Formats: sequence, C-alpha cells, structure tokens
Amino acid sequence: MSKLTIQDLDIQGKRVLMRVDFNVPVKDGVVGDDTRIVAALPSINYVLENGGSLVLMSHCGRPKGEKNMEFSLKPAADRLAELVEAKVTLAPDVVGDEVKGLVDALQSGEILVLENVRFYKEEEGKGCTEEEQNIFAKELASYGDLYVSDAFGTAHRAHASMAVVTKYIDQCAAGLLIEKEIKYLGQTLEAPEKPFVAIIGGAKISGKIDVVLNLMDKCDTILIGGGMAYTFFRAQGKQIGDSLVEEDKIELAGEILKQAEAKGVKLLLPLDNLAADAFSAEATIKVAENGIEAGWMGLDIGPKTIELFCNEVASAKTVVWNGPMGCFEMEPFAKGTYSVCQAVADSDSVSIIGGGDSVAAVKQSGLADKMSHISTGGGASLEFMEGKKLPGIEALTDK
Ligand code: AMP
Repeated sequence: MSKLTIQDLDIQGKRVLMRVDFNVPVKDGVVGDDTRIVAALPSINYVLENGGSLVLMSHCGRPKGEKNMEFSLKPAADRLAELVEAKVTLAPDVVGDEVKGLVDALQSGEILVLENVRFYKEEEGKGCTEEEQNIFAKELASYGDLYVSDAFGTAHRAHASMAVVTKYIDQCAAGLLIEKEIKYLGQTLEAPEKPFVAIIGGAKISGKIDVVLNLMDKCDTILIGGGMAYTFFRAQGKQIGDSLVEEDKIELAGEILKQAEAKGVKLLLPLDNLAADAFSAEATIKVAENGIEAGWMGLDIGPKTIELFCNEVASAKTVVWNGPMGCFEMEPFAKGTYSVCQAVADSDSVSIIGGGDSVAAVKQSGLADKMSHISTGGGASLEFMEGKKLPGIEALTDK
C-alpha cells in the first residue's frame, strides 16, 4: 500500500485543503482535551513552513446534517490559534459565497477553518442523493489546489470530506499522522517480522472476531485475555461461573479454536484467572484455575497466565495488541493488562497498539513512548486490523 504523502507535494504558493480530526470534547465553549488538535500540528506546520495556505475541515460531535452552532468548530479554531504562529480565521459556514470569498482572500501562511462539515447531510451521505453529495464534495474541492487527509479516526467512513472530495482534486496525499498509520498498521501487518504475536482482549468476542480471523493468517501466536476468553472457555466445556459470556458466540469460538489448530497458530487462553465474588473493586478475590465456580466471575488473567503471556511477548519481533486483559479500570484487576504492557515495552519488537481501551491502558501505564505505534483511531484501526480497506485511505492518490 503506497500512497502519496504530504512530503511528495509541491506546496509553495498552493492552497491545501486538509481534513483533520478536530472532533474534540468541548465544555462551556472551551476545548477540554486538545490531543487531536496537537496531533494535527506537524502536518499543519509542514504546509505553512513550505509556503502554502490551509483550508481545514473537520467534523465535531453529531449535528446530524443541520447547522447547529452547539457543534461549532469555534472552540477548536480558538485553541488552534493559540498553538500556531499563523492567522487563523473561522469561516461562518462550510460552503457558500461567503466561505468562497474567504478562501479566495487566503494568503500564504494563513489558515481558514471551515465550520463543522457535518452541518450538511451530504457529508455523511445520509438522506441525500449521490448527486447532492458530489456537488457538496466538488464545492469543498474547489477550495484547494491539493488535498491532504490526516483524520485517521474517520478514515473508515466513506464521507464526502474524506472519500468523495478526492475525486475532484488531482493530488490527494496522506498527512503525517495517516502516513504513520499506513506504515505500521498497513505495511507491518502485510509483512510482519516473525515471531508475530497478537494480543487480543476486551469485553466481547463479537467486536473482535474479524480481527482474530484476519490475524490468524498472519501471526504465529494469539494470546486471548479479557472478558472474551470466557466464551472460548465455554466452547471448551469449562465452567465460567458468572463471568461475561456471549452465548450466541460459543459455537464460533469453538470454530476459531479448531481453525487455529488447523493452521498451526498457537492460540493461548488464560491458564488461570482472578475471580471475584462481585463486579467491584471491593470484592473478595481469588485465583481460579480449571474454570470458575458459580458465584464468581473472572475479571483479570491470573499470575500463571501473566507469566505465560509475558514470555511469549518477550521473544516476539512484532506485537499487535487490541483490548485489555481484564477490568483494568479497577485497580485490583489491572495487573494482567499492565504486566503485558510492561512486557511489550521491554520486548525488542515492533509494537502496535490499537483500539480505545488498550491505548488508554498503555497511556495510563506511562509506557506509551516505549511502543512503536499507538494508533489514533479506534474503529479505523480495528477495521485495519480486520484486513478491511479504509475508504479514506483508498481514496488517496497511489504513488
Ligand atoms: P473492548 O472495548 O471490547 O476492548 O472492551 C474493553 C472493556 O472490557 C474494558 O472496559 C474492560 O473493563 C472490559 N473487560 C476486560 N476484561 C473483562 C472481564 N473479564 N469481564 C468484564 N469486562 C472486562
């Protein structure tokens, strides 16, 4: 997968239309967490430093195709103005004559932030015709000589500002954030260095089936932890007490176990679990081996499993991790997740962390800078790991 990147563009004197992810939490008109804005700065500054001007577009929240100023990008634009040494103007709308006038007046080194693209139903393409969506995308495209996308978080959506606008601009490139996602999630998964260990956890098997199935064809070992392990235990006929289970996925879990065996993939389930008598940090806790009795629920992997999983990770050359090993939000059940996190950090592997909760766990552990790549998109990185093509990346120009 080789896509044009921002560094391939001749930006001098050009207007760059850039899709960013400024979908930030806002309270009382002020941005609460500016991580996503900060993450976009390298690409933004790259354009400015190379003599271009910028028209930025993003969504924020769910205004459902209506111009609702509660979802205005003003707080994000205000925060951006504090972070860059450039003139930042917020357009009063996304499209229309007034916006066009502001775009035409834009000077090199200046930034114009369009209003929330989801003020228009054409953005998501719901409740409008394809023709209407094309007209909207064409108008957006008229604002730029070049297009750059750095909004990985929405790259799995075929929305106008990601996957339709690209039909009307010749050169559509990946920004620095997306370039890194393609490098790690794309290229590493295509040709991983072996041994390749996948760590899959989290609450439910249903959200991760396609990840497990896709990775099964690529990796040597799959470590399964978290709540989803108990559906596999049920498939093996083990007792799981009151642990989380998806009854309708037991058969599928059995199938996955058989497939792994047939393909020669080492699929490891927990050897032991931390079982609690209630879903609470104050619960009575014991280590359970050989299944879990009635009245108890498994909320983390146990000490033998921690050792087993950490040993597997220690010899890995590629690690992909999606989903915590237990209810790490409650301190008594966080050890499995944090131990595995430490093992990944200590290993000599290319380590890719994807998925909201594993990213949160890695950040909380203070080991984030020891990982090769922490994916910025929850749903998008999950789809990438499932082997799906992401419309927002497919739409970029091939190299
Ligand atoms: P997911 O979004 O599927 O990755 O799931 C993440 C959530 O799974 C976290 O909030 C964890 O607390 C939860 N989780 C992990 N292990 C268990 C478990 N054994 N029982 C119930 N919930 C769990």
